Amino acid sequence: MIIVLKPRITKRQESSVLREIRKLGYEPHVMRGVARTVIGAIGDEKKNPSLETLTSWPQVEKVMPIQKRFRLVSREAHGKNSTVKVGRHVIGGKKFHVMAGPCSVGSEKQLMETAHAVRKAGATILRGGAFKPRTSPYEFQGLGEKGLKLLAKARKETGLSIITELLSQKHADLVAEYSDILQIGTRNAQNYQLLIAAARTGKPVLLKRGMSMRIMEWLLAGEYVLANRNPNLLFCERGIRTFEDYTRNTLDLSAVAVVKAESHCPIVVDPSQGCGKASLVHSMCRGAVAMGADALLVEVHPNPTEAISDAAQQIDLEGFAALMDELAPIAESVGREI
Ligand code: PEP
Ligand code: MN
Repeated sequence: MIIVLKPRITKRQESSVLREIRKLGYEPHVMRGVARTVIGAIGDEKKNPSLETLTSWPQVEKVMPIQKRFRLVSREAHGKNSTVKVGRHVIGGKKFHVMAGPCSVGSEKQLMETAHAVRKAGATILRGGAFKPRTSPYEFQGLGEKGLKLLAKARKETGLSIITELLSQKHADLVAEYSDILQIGTRNAQNYQLLIAAARTGKPVLLKRGMSMRIMEWLLAGEYVLANRNPNLLFCERGIRTFEDYTRNTLDLSAVAVVKAESHCPIVVDPSQGCGKASLVHSMCRGAVAMGADALLVEVHPNPTEAISDAAQQIDLEGFAALMDELAPIAESVGREI
């Protein structure tokens, strides 16, 4: 910890802080500047009481941690970018991955038609919600296990890997049985028991950013996955709540650069939830690829106007094929292939 003392502190006041630091089990190292004194306190924070109590001392200006609170997801913990293996795919390497499919699995026909089309266009992973977190309890809640079975059938027919949302701890093993990636949605991004349950399945976990979550809180939520012995974590930016209501959310593409700087884990962008409007999805996808994201999660439906959830933001099959063509040269220009 770094303890910054207030200006014009007497020798006696400084000594009392040093005494307290030693009493709490740390070794203080004093740095006296022209204007103020800074103390570096070295010791085991797991064994000793926290030095944060010093914040309330009148002679102390602030107490700052030296080590990042997120240790395992931090870039310092892992020299190079980490990669996540999903079936025969590797996310975070040279290949840029596109996960595409309907918001919700609605029927066999809808899912199979979408799966074949997105695969043909170059997607590698099929998305589709079987357990849906709906704002209203009167809206479609998903097909549940039947939806998972349809996703597994689509994987068998197309060879695509599967990503679907895990909503409840009690379904962790069930969803892990059918899905190659467990998606933790924005509403559950700080449901730590769910994150632990997801991590313990051993399956890769895609952690969406909570809609009101700061990046540091999101990284710490990701820490729960790695701290529970699952290194296969993907962060996913999906837009945050701001004062802007032209779009459903504000897709924070700066988060791609921040996560890349702070963490070694791959980052995925979901422009569909991010802007909530099909007409904006193409440009946000282009931006995400150019920013250095590792993958996209895009909602695609054979007939978006008939979709049972998120109809306004899903692009159709032709639109998706055109999107993949648009993205290829951008991916190439940033050293990726699609
Ligand atoms: C979704 O992917 O359909 C979804 C519900 O996502 P989010 O949790 O980002 O709202
Ligand atoms: Mn959706």
